[in-house]
Amino acid sequence: MSTLLASLEKALAADNRPILFDNDTWHTTSELRRDVLHVVSTLYEAGLRERDEVLIGLPNSYEFAVVYLALLQSGVVISPVNPKMPAAELERVLPRVQAKAVFLQPAQHEAWQSVLEASGLSSTTEIAPPDSAMEPIVLTALSDGSMQSAQEAHESGAPDDDAPAVLMFTSGTTGQPKGVLLRHRHLLHAADNVINSHQLTEEDVTYCMLPLFHINAQVIVLLSSLVSGGRIVMVDRFHASRFWNDISTHGVTWVSAVPTILSILSKLDTKVPEHRLRFIRSASAPLAPAIKNRFESAIGVPVVESYGMTEAAGQICINPLPPALRKTGSVGKPFGLELQILDDQERPLGAGQVGEIVIRGKNVIESYVGLEANSSSKWRGWIFTGDLGYRDDDGYVFITGRVKEIINRAGEKLSPREIEDVLNGHPAVDRAAVIGVPDALYGERVVAYVVPVDEQAAASGKLVDELGELCKASLAHHKCPSEIFVAKSLPVGPTGKVQKHLLRDATKVHLLA
Ligand code: ATP
Ligand code: MG
Repeated sequence: MSTLLASLEKALAADNRPILFDNDTWHTTSELRRDVLHVVSTLYEAGLRERDEVLIGLPNSYEFAVVYLALLQSGVVISPVNPKMPAAELERVLPRVQAKAVFLQPAQHEAWQSVLEASGLSSTTEIAPPDSAMEPIVLTALSDGSMQSAQEAHESGAPDDDAPAVLMFTSGTTGQPKGVLLRHRHLLHAADNVINSHQLTEEDVTYCMLPLFHINAQVIVLLSSLVSGGRIVMVDRFHASRFWNDISTHGVTWVSAVPTILSILSKLDTKVPEHRLRFIRSASAPLAPAIKNRFESAIGVPVVESYGMTEAAGQICINPLPPALRKTGSVGKPFGLELQILDDQERPLGAGQVGEIVIRGKNVIESYVGLEANSSSKWRGWIFTGDLGYRDDDGYVFITGRVKEIINRAGEKLSPREIEDVLNGHPAVDRAAVIGVPDALYGERVVAYVVPVDEQAAASGKLVDELGELCKASLAHHKCPSEIFVAKSLPVGPTGKVQKHLLRDATKVHLLA
């Protein structure tokens, strides 16, 4: 049995311990173990075997956790997808995975049925364990004889450390999503790094509000909590109006968030009730220092910024918990893996020098599905993150941008992040995004989009003038945006990252000025 499965088994061994709250109910360890077993036997009867690939199209729920654990235990490869996506998107996602089955809620099954049937996924089983608080779910499998029959000999044992566990796709922020196959050993080490850096124990209670079809909620929240013996309060998604009440009522001790959520929370005027929060972690996208400070000073909860990616099964760097120093603007230090910063000749750089971040470690994949990670022999086995950054003298990492987003203005390479930081420094700006657009004279020119804190105040056009002045005062001439647009909102993906390729199509942005 893999070390991950053994750790989970050990953590869930105690009887009747409340472990996961969902739908007004605390589910216990005994219930979870029993429901997992039920799903394991159902999927076996449906003909699913080790290394088969299946989609989980379930929302954040107790049922998601049950199915996820059952699939891990059976060695079936899990590919979680957004349960809210329209059927047309599912049609594009399906060919990426050789799905032999899909787990979903009955209503979603109706919405997706025609697309699933067109792919041969038409044999339907309802899963509703007897005497269980589990909501019924639907398992839709191939029916064309490619499934194993339950009578066929089943040779394989439990999955080992090297067994494939989860097939994820990167967010596709910089292009097509890339396939990342995480093995049991990757998940185990990723969870261990989170447990150690967050000092998680059985006393901890986490709040799972980020989508479980992304690596953050799956590994950092769900698996790390289960392995450390902590408890999980599950919600379908972030609700600003419920947040503080939930945190207080359930004695939540830590939360994984993204900057968009922290920005919304920092502006609420609800009175913060008594709570047990030790810290909130922020990852996925840069956290504006103003939001962090607003949150920490008004609410008094430390915000720990982290840097992660699908390829690392979650976390790469993390700021230490108090009393150690959390450096504002830094994503913290590498934790439990190796990190190097390389110049464009792939030579390692020292403190203060900006280059591409490359990583290697027990939680990091060695290559992409169907792609060599890197052709350079020296760095074979390392993942080139596509992120630019530097380390300071204390080893804290600062992300300065992404290789692919670099703007090339007449040969001058400009980092959008530097310009965004200046714009974000204006008190009336909630969020800024800078891109390069094709320019007949310069090759590319700098264009900025800003979302104001207050739409009314921004309508006059004065904000654009002020931002122009601010840029002139803070940036070299060639870095100043040639146009600044005020937008109602920016297109963001499910993990809160601005989708810059959509910004390049100006018709997709709702402009205010
Ligand atoms: P793709 O690789 O398909 O373009 P993606 O990189 O956005 O998409 P993910 O794996 O979901 O897909 O996200 C990882 C990336 O998110 C990192 O490489 C980095 O660019 C960004 N990121 C994560 N945390 C932070 C952070 N704290 N600050 C800045 N950027 C971050
Ligand atoms: Mg990426």
